[in-house]
Amino acid sequence: DAKRDGRGVARLFDEGMDENIRLRRAIEGGLSLAIEKGELSLVYQPIIAREGLEVVGFEALLRWNTEDHGPISPAVFIPIAEESNLIHELGDWVLDQSLAVLQGWPGQYISVNFSPRQFRRHNFVGRIMESVQRAGIEPNRVQIEITETAIFDDADRAADTLYKLRQMGFRIALDDFGTGYSSLYNIRKFALDCLKIDRSFIDGMGRERESAAIVQSIVHLGRSLGLGVIAEGVETEAQVQALRVAGCSHLQGYYFSRPVALEIANEIAERRYLIDETVVEDESVAK
Ligand code: C2E
Ligand code: MG
Ligand code: MG
Ligand code: MG
Repeated sequence: DAKRDGRGVARLFDEGMDENIRLRRAIEGGLSLAIEKGELSLVYQPIIAREGLEVVGFEALLRWNTEDHGPISPAVFIPIAEESNLIHELGDWVLDQSLAVLQGWPGQYISVNFSPRQFRRHNFVGRIMESVQRAGIEPNRVQIEITETAIFDDADRAADTLYKLRQMGFRIALDDFGTGYSSLYNIRKFALDCLKIDRSFIDGMGRERESAAIVQSIVHLGRSLGLGVIAEGVETEAQVQALRVAGCSHLQGYYFSRPVALEIANEIAERRYLIDETVVEDESVAK
């Protein structure tokens, strides 16, 4: 009967929850050992300037290949790490690796993702400066990617942090722009270098008028504030053309290159010109 069904559903739901919690704990446990087990690596995706179509930088993206269960997506494990101090351990590792690879590249910058908790960490500015100095890297070769969530919760403190970072010469990019709840008005308060248009809008461009309109307004907004605008998730020739016409300053996405291992990134960096063949990170998802 209905009552019994209700209980059954409730029990199933509980079991689902338990399963979920077990999974999270397993991921947490695995992650805490991932560095010493050598299971982490970075892949690098080029960022291309609209003018001249040169590779001006690379975004570093974290990969976790577990011994027991194969690769786990950062979209899964970063939010779990973000709930504890594990994110700091991972973040420090990512930054040190990123700075080390920069030494091998002629003139590009490295763009590093920082989660909200990393950004709000005590003495974030001092720590990042220390790492960069230790590595002997100019801050202008490091782009800090943060999301709207990181800066709009405590806007005054965030504005202060960004101002200091920018004074020191770091580049600041606002990632996944358009998906958060930033008021356009408040954007002015923050010392930024560029906006990264979220790939959901790029994806919708050819299909719905709204996406193209949103892309166009973000480009206008960026331009009127003197900011660069990077389109992420560019996959097709048609998108490239539309984004160039819209006046987007930088492009990034599978059309140019998937995120690739260091040896391939080194080749791309040295060539310093647009590659037109798609370099494949994972054969199983190749087109
Ligand atoms: P994100 O920073 O917005 O990175 C862009 C994501 O889109 C990456 O996924 C990238 O592989 C993917 N992508 C790039 N071009 C295309 C394209 O043309 N088409 C499609 N469909 N996807 C494309 P990934 O590497 O799985 O990373 C997911 C998210 O995990 C990142 O989003 C970022 O928020 C987070 N993340 C990755 N590495 C790190 C890290 O080192 N630290 C922190 N805090 N977060 C990271
Ligand atoms: Mg990013
Ligand atoms: Mg992004
Ligand atoms: Mg994104």
